[in-house]
Amino acid sequence: MNHYDVAVIGAGPGGYVAAIRSAQLGLKTIIIEKDKIGGTCLNVGCIPTKTLVKNAEIVNGIRHAADRGIIIPEPEIDMPATIGMKNKVVNQLAGGVQMLLKANGVEIITGDAKTLSADRLSVAGQEISFGNLIIATGSSNFIPPIPGIDDPGVLTSTEMLDLDHVPESLAIIGGGVIGCEFATIFTSFGSKVTIIEMMQNIVPAMDKDISIMLKKSMKASGVNILTDCKVTQVNRLNDRYQVRITGAKEETIEASGVLVSIGRSANLNGLEALGLAMEYGNKYIKVNDRMETSTAHIYAVGDVTGKMMLAHVASSQGIVAAENIVGNKLVMSYDVVPNCVYTIPEISSAGLTEEKARETFGELLIAKFPMSACGKALAMGEPAGFAKLIAEKKTKKVLGCHIIGANATELIGQIAVLMKKGGTLTDIEETIYAHPTISETISEAAHLALGRPVHTLKGK
Ligand SMILES: Cc1cc2nc3c(=O)[nH]c(=O)nc-3n(C[C@H](O)[C@H](O)[C@H](O)COP(=O)(O)OP(=O)(O)OC[C@H]3O[C@@H](n4cnc5c(N)ncnc54)[C@H](O)[C@@H]3O)c2cc1C
Repeated sequence: MNHYDVAVIGAGPGGYVAAIRSAQLGLKTIIIEKDKIGGTCLNVGCIPTKTLVKNAEIVNGIRHAADRGIIIPEPEIDMPATIGMKNKVVNQLAGGVQMLLKANGVEIITGDAKTLSADRLSVAGQEISFGNLIIATGSSNFIPPIPGIDDPGVLTSTEMLDLDHVPESLAIIGGGVIGCEFATIFTSFGSKVTIIEMMQNIVPAMDKDISIMLKKSMKASGVNILTDCKVTQVNRLNDRYQVRITGAKEETIEASGVLVSIGRSANLNGLEALGLAMEYGNKYIKVNDRMETSTAHIYAVGDVTGKMMLAHVASSQGIVAAENIVGNKLVMSYDVVPNCVYTIPEISSAGLTEEKARETFGELLIAKFPMSACGKALAMGEPAGFAKLIAEKKTKKVLGCHIIGANATELIGQIAVLMKKGGTLTDIEETIYAHPTISETISEAAHLALGRPVHTLKGK
């Protein structure tokens, strides 16, 4: 039986990063993947969706080109070619990850891992033993128990990424991040989209001002948004669907396609023999801030821990686990995690929402600087949105940043660095920002929060 210092189950962003770091630390490492290297993120998550979002942005740009004096005919979507382009990007990145694993000396084995005990597992007809195990088995689409939802024509995000046509109309069950990203993609491609969300707001985990602004923007682009509404039944009639809704509205939506995107559930198959402690309603593996499970030498990282289901969180946890295996005593902190939503306009955030900051810190300094007062945003023809900063009144320490508008997802990195170092509004105020850039909205928001705005009026 082959023995490894570290066995990693799952080659998503949690697992492959943990494996590479383990090998870099001199540990004999094997990674086991039953499907494709790169996991959800690379194959059916972050990367393919963002490739399609880019197409949506191009189509949108063409549609609004006439506003800039450029006359282009109405664009057409060749869906098979679009999916082909997406697959090319995914394959290139997956090949890159495979190369990195090999170059770092990580052994790769394809198969469905089944743990046998706290130091042995079986895969592809062989047994291997390990000194340490890192579980990075990720998550899968969650299908709620709604009558009719098991119809094979009701699609998950995974299946939507291989559609060979643009549906004439699309009902999206769930207005979270994934639902809103698909709404952006398919509205731009020409589908008539309806989002049905149970909560009061779409992207409900985001700062309320952001959710409200996104709803307004998406409605303006033609998305029908029903909040406070619950789907009770899905019926198929030939090649169309009837989606029955109760709540704020009682109605039946008709659509030629249905996407169910109401969350993800942890992949726990094959881990039963470990008898690990669980949390969050017994649905996710319980870990401490060193990514240790309830059993010594067994770690869990990524979506399977149910902490923050983001690729970059999974990767950070993977590094923490690997470093702790060699005794480096790293701890995971979730205080400043950038969170991005790739809608049009795009969204990013880090730190606390206004509500949470008020609850925790009491008196705050808050400012929102509008994109419509930013020269670069106007030049780009993207005046929608704002940058919002939230700081503790006493110390001026930045507690949260929430941006909606052009380049929002690229802006959040700088503020995350500042927040990680305990930076203040004054730190931002004293920094010179290049002109004209969208990042000036952050600088302007800091001036405004400190009561010294130049490019807007106090109290705005
Ligand atoms: C549509 C969509 C869009 C997303 N967009 C973003 C985004 O823009 N940004 C972002 O940060 N996050 C995004 N996410 C979330 C992100 O994909 C996940 O948070 C991330 O992939 C989690 O990484 P992971 O390593 O924990 O698990 P996964 O990426 O799910 O990988 C787990 C791997 O383990 C394998 N596996 C499971 N069980 C076994 C077993 N028993 N034996 C062998 N192999 C096994 C699986 O096949 C899988 O490949 C998106 C998700 C979806 C669905």
